Amino acid sequence: MAKVMVFIDGTWLYSNLRHLAKESNHPGFHIDYGALPKSITSELSQRNGLGSLDVTRTFLFGSYPINYDLVDEDRARKRKDFFTMLREDYHYEVEAFPIDYADRRILHDDREADDPFSPREKCVDIALAASMLYYAAIPSGYDLAVAVVGDKDYFPLFQKVRQLGKQVAIVSIRQSCAKMYSDRQDPKKLKDFHIIWLNDMIERIAWAPVEMEVECRSPLHEGARLTTTTMRLRNGQPYFCEVCRSKFAEQKEEQMREYTSAGINSLAKEENGEEAAMYDGMVEALIPDRGFGFIKRADGASFFFHLTHLTNADWEAVGVGDSVKFTVTKNPVGAKAGAAGEVTLNQETEGPEISQL
Ligand SMILES: [Zn+2]
Repeated sequence: MAKVMVFIDGTWLYSNLRHLAKESNHPGFHIDYGALPKSITSELSQRNGLGSLDVTRTFLFGSYPINYDLVDEDRARKRKDFFTMLREDYHYEVEAFPIDYADRRILHDDREADDPFSPREKCVDIALAASMLYYAAIPSGYDLAVAVVGDKDYFPLFQKVRQLGKQVAIVSIRQSCAKMYSDRQDPKKLKDFHIIWLNDMIERIAWAPVEMEVECRSPLHEGARLTTTTMRLRNGQPYFCEVCRSKFAEQKEEQMREYTSAGINSLAKEENGEEAAMYDGMVEALIPDRGFGFIKRADGASFFFHLTHLTNADWEAVGVGDSVKFTVTKNPVGAKAGAAGEVTLNQETEGPEISQL
């Protein structure tokens, strides 16, 4: 059975999903990343009579924002949750690189109209090329590389991979694909098969949302708590309904303006793809009915946190004096507190409940 590895330019795919969404006729279109590699290879096999193909690995190369305006915290966190889901649920190999937003909003439309700033992506294409070439060159690599890409920069890569005796298949999106990739005459000798358009397999790669009944765990919630959602929930993470989430966003912005330093955020530490540093701290104050509090770090510095920063506990479960681990998004300046990013409550392990089998 031919061994296949799939290499996805995640940044390109992400920014071109809208074309597929338009053609799919449902606005909430998302790709089912669990089904994507298999759907592509079975299409490839059917069209070319290749028999069964064995997808041994799927890589996704992407980027995530750092040094963004903290108003966009939830947006940024979604991106990280997405990479976590790819790794944990579907065993993708994800390589993600930071994009520096220089303290600006993440979406172009949220920035000042005359702001010439444009975020610069680094490394994604080179990382994809390095991996594809590496696995082409080692003995236990692949027989066939599937590249899910659109940018023309990859053509020398495909040539080299083929010169190493491996096959290359290109999968792309019609509205965003370098012409040479779909050229049937293929003068540059980039590929072994006709291009496959994701546009032609929309139904097969669409994510079918599963509705679940969950309780909104927000202390601000009004009315019945049980609602349905198609959101994926990570283990132990409390669910908040749409209404509460938008209330939180407003609240958090206001509170941070009031209680935290004006200093620019300190996410730059992640610049080199390192995980954000984790600190030990203790909950030093809580304003329960407003949903926020402060953490004291061992060095005495204080950090604001909001209930949406909790990763593993309900707001009601947190008490003054509790020990936590947390990341920092803003350093304290003068008398003003810094701001925490993710806050994890150190929950006491209840021995008997776990060990009783
Ligand atoms: Zn709610």
